[in-house]
Amino acid sequence: MNANCAERSLELHQKARELMPDGVNSPVRAFKHVGGRPIYVSRGEGSRFMDEDGRCFVDYCMGWGALILGHAYPTVVEAVQKTARDGLCFGTCHRNEILLAELVAEAFSPLDMVRFVCSGTEAVSTALRLARAATQRRLLVKFSGCYHGHADAMLVKAGSGAAEQQLAESEGVTASTIADTLVLPLGNVELLEAAFARHGDEIAAVIVEPLPANNGLLPQSPAWLGLLRALTHRHGALLIFDEVISGFRFGFGGYGKLVVDIQPDLVSLGKIVSGGLAVGALVGSKKLMRKLSPAGGVYQAGTQAGNPVGLAAGIACLRVLKEGWPYEKLKNLGNQLEAALQKSGEERGGALPFRRQGSLFWLCLDSAGKLPDNAEQFSPTMGKKFHPAYASWLSQGIYMPPSSYEVGFLSAVHTPAEVDALARALTEAVDETQKLA
Ligand SMILES: *Cc1c(COP(=O)(O)O)cnc(C)c1O
Repeated sequence: MNANCAERSLELHQKARELMPDGVNSPVRAFKHVGGRPIYVSRGEGSRFMDEDGRCFVDYCMGWGALILGHAYPTVVEAVQKTARDGLCFGTCHRNEILLAELVAEAFSPLDMVRFVCSGTEAVSTALRLARAATQRRLLVKFSGCYHGHADAMLVKAGSGAAEQQLAESEGVTASTIADTLVLPLGNVELLEAAFARHGDEIAAVIVEPLPANNGLLPQSPAWLGLLRALTHRHGALLIFDEVISGFRFGFGGYGKLVVDIQPDLVSLGKIVSGGLAVGALVGSKKLMRKLSPAGGVYQAGTQAGNPVGLAAGIACLRVLKEGWPYEKLKNLGNQLEAALQKSGEERGGALPFRRQGSLFWLCLDSAGKLPDNAEQFSPTMGKKFHPAYASWLSQGIYMPPSSYEVGFLSAVHTPAEVDALARALTEAVDETQKLA
C-alpha cells in the first residue's frame, strides 16, 4: 500500500490506537492479515466507498456481506430516515417487529417464530442456550473452520493431538466451557459418527454453517449435511444452521433449505437480515421458540432488541430481495466472474485457486494445487502470499476483505465492468504470486 496516499487514514489510525485496542472494534479491521494499515471510510454509495484521503474503492467486503444491495441503498436509507424521525428506540413493542418477523417467517417456513437480537453472536448464543434447555443436555458439536461469533462456547478449537482434545481459541474461555464443546473436522463422516456413538445422549445440538464461508469458502456435500440431520434426529439433538452469512444470500431464505434442501431446527441470522444495521434473529418452530422467556424459561432479553430503526432497514432490504431481481443480478455477476477466471485458468493451462458459490468468492493464493475442503487442509503459511496481492488490489481501487481467510462478496449493485476489472485483478494476483514462488 502506498502510505503517501493514505496520510489521513494513517493519522486517524494512530489516534485510534490510543483509544481502542489496536485502534479497532473488531480484529480483522486492523489489517494485520494484510500487512498494512486500515483504511478510514468517509462515505459509501452503491458498489463503492471513499476513504478519508479521498480515494475511491470498489467494495467487495460490503459490510462483511450485510450490504447485499450495496451501500446506502435508497429505499433502505429512506426507511431508516422516516422511522428515525418517529423515535430511535422505544424499548417496547412496535409494528416493525411484526412486519420483519412476517418476512423472516415466510422466508424460513416451516420455521415460523422469530426472536430479534442485535447481532449474529447473540442469535447463536440464544440458539445454544435454547438447545440445551430443550434437550436437557450439555454438549455442543461444532466444526473447525466454521465461525459462529464470539460466544465462549464457540471459541473452542480442535487440538492438534488426540481426536477429542480441545483447546480455547481465545484467552478467558474456561476449561469447563471447552469440555462442553466437541470440535470436529468439516466433512468427516467417521469422526462425526464416532462422536455420536460415544456421546449421542449428551449432545444438545450440532451447529454448522451450511455453507462455511468465514474461513475460506468450504462448501460441504449435501450428503454430509444430510448425515448431520439424520444423526441429530436419531439421537434427539437439535440441528442449528448458522446462516448469518448465507441467509438471504442465495435466494429469499436460507442456503440450507434453498440449496441443499435440509431442514434445520433453528436458524441464526444476522448480516443481510439487518439491511446494514445491528439486527440479528433466531428462527425456529413455535414449539421450540416458545421456550424463550417470557413464554418459557430460557432467559434472553435486550434493550435494543427489535430496535425500530434497525428493523425498518431489515424490512426495506428484504422487500427488495423479495422482488427477485437482486438474485438474478447476483447470479449473472457470479457466473461472469467465474467464467472469466476459468478462461484465465485455461489460458494458463490449469485452474486458478478460486472458488465461488453464488455471489461469494474466494481466491486462495496459498493453496498448492487443490483447494482445501476443510480447515485441517490449510497451508500453515496461509496469508503470506496475500500481502503483496492485497496491496496491489488497493492500489487499483479494489477493496477486498483484509484477510486471506475471508471471502469476497458481490452485491446486486456491482456492475459487469467492475466484475471484469475484479477478474483481471484476481488473475494478476495469481500470476504475481507464481512469480514469487
Ligand atoms: C458474521 C457471523 C457471525 C457473527 O455475527 P456478528 O453479527 O458479527 O456477531 C456468526 N456466524 C456467522 C456464520 C457469521 O458469518
